[in-house]
Amino acid sequence: MRIWDIPPERLCRQHLLGEHRELHALWSIITNNKKGYVHHPETMRWRGKLKALYLRHEVMVEEMKKRGYKHSTPLDPALATGNAIQDEFVNSYEEQVRILNEKGCECRV
Ligand SMILES: [Zn+2]
Ligand SMILES: [Zn+2]
Repeated sequence: MRIWDIPPERLCRQHLLGEHRELHALWSIITNNKKGYVHHPETMRWRGKLKALYLRHEVMVEEMKKRGYKHSTPLDPALATGNAIQDEFVNSYEEQVRILNEKGCECRV
């Protein structure tokens, strides 16, 4: 499970759609207080920052629509509480660029 800190327009199809799916899973874990993944670093860094996660979803959806993908799974804005800024990272931005480069996919990083 990973939410990238890379601008969505730089992500390839696979990573854009994959992150979008995982973002919904993460949103569900945090808003429903699910027991699984509680200690996952990605869960821990977004807890208390649902506003920031909501905004990440918004920019992803914008990019998906630009590419002609359908989106029918809006998040409930009433649940978008807490900090609007994400300033904790599982991997630094530079590390994320390296990870994506090593995958040899179509990401433009
Ligand atoms: Zn969505
Ligand atoms: Zn990619």
